[in-house]
This record gives sequence, C-alpha cells and structure tokens, in this order.
Amino acid sequence: MQYRVFENGIEVNGTTVFSIVDGFRNFKIMASKYLLEQGIGEKGSDGVAVINKDAWYSQEKWLKAFENIGKEVGSGTLFQIGLKIPENAIFPPWVKDIDTAIKSIDVAYHMNHRKNNIPLFDPSTGNMKEGIGHYGFERLSSKNMIISECNNPYPCDFDKGIITAMAKKFELKASVTHLDSAPCRKNGTNSCTYIITW
Ligand SMILES: [Zn+2]
Repeated sequence: MQYRVFENGIEVNGTTVFSIVDGFRNFKIMASKYLLEQGIGEKGSDGVAVINKDAWYSQEKWLKAFENIGKEVGSGTLFQIGLKIPENAIFPPWVKDIDTAIKSIDVAYHMNHRKNNIPLFDPSTGNMKEGIGHYGFERLSSKNMIISECNNPYPCDFDKGIITAMAKKFELKASVTHLDSAPCRKNGTNSCTYIITW
C-alpha cells in the first residue's frame, strides 16, 4: 500500500527528502506544513522547512508527510516530481545505458535508506539488505523491453516519473506504461508494475 512502511526502524536521508520536497516548487509552504507536523526539518524564517541534507529521518514519518502532501497536489504532480528526482541524483559510474539506468534505481534507493545506522546498500561489497522493498528489473532479451515491478511504499505515480526520467536519459523515445492488469498500490497492494519500451 502506498505510504506504508514495510518494516519499522528504517530511516531516509536528508538529501532524498530535500530533493523530493524541492520538486514541489510551487507547493513548498504547503509541503513544509506537513513535514514540520511530522517533526521533519526546522521552520525557516520564510516558513519553508529547512531539511538538513546530512541528517536521517524516520521513513514512517516521512511517508506520512508525503502522503498528506500527495493528497493535496494529486497524481499528476507526483508524476512530475518523480520525473525530477534523477535530475539531481548522482549515479554510479556503471550507469551507461537504459538497462543499467533502470537497475541503478534500486541501488540508489537502498543507499539512501538505512537501519541501525547502516545504509541498506554497501557499494564497497555490493551487499544489499532488505526492509524497504525494491525497484525491479527484468529485461526481455528478445525485444527492447524492461519490466519493472516496484514493490516499495512510495506512490505509484511518483515511481512512474522516476522510471520515465531514467529511461529517457539514455533512450529519448522510451515510453513507460503502468501495467493495469497487475496489482496497483493505489488499491492497497504492495506493488505496481511498469513496462518500459523503446
Ligand atoms: Zn500503480
């Protein structure tokens, strides 16, 4: 289900919270209200929540704030914000085509969340821990198609935006469709599936 943690005790880093909130350009004051309500960030003199990029925040509280913000702005805006996420993100050096770009989403996702003070992905060992679900990657070798099952607590339209932006980084003509015959988090399940073609 959208916005519900898979596991307790998970934290998300300030950089991720900041980049998502920054995407809400015209809605910063409104978004700030919901963040501050959950104890995320400090209120600045302009009323906008100041997020410490070096801090870590409760994923549960972050998702609650995100849910409230999402209700106000609607699905179209969540998609637009998802599109902006990869603009500012730093990618691993092995990202060089659409396949590695889509694969890297799950790696970045785990690097930006931690439990017991330890990030869920360690780039030096390649070790990934569970607790937040995944951004799936399944390549169909016979055609230019990737199936990505997103089993994580973030909202459906937001993830579609992230995947679309990552796909278009390397294949301008790429298109991403939500597989409507599969479960959708909007209906209370834990995953959505997207088809990427180019
Ligand atoms: Zn969905």
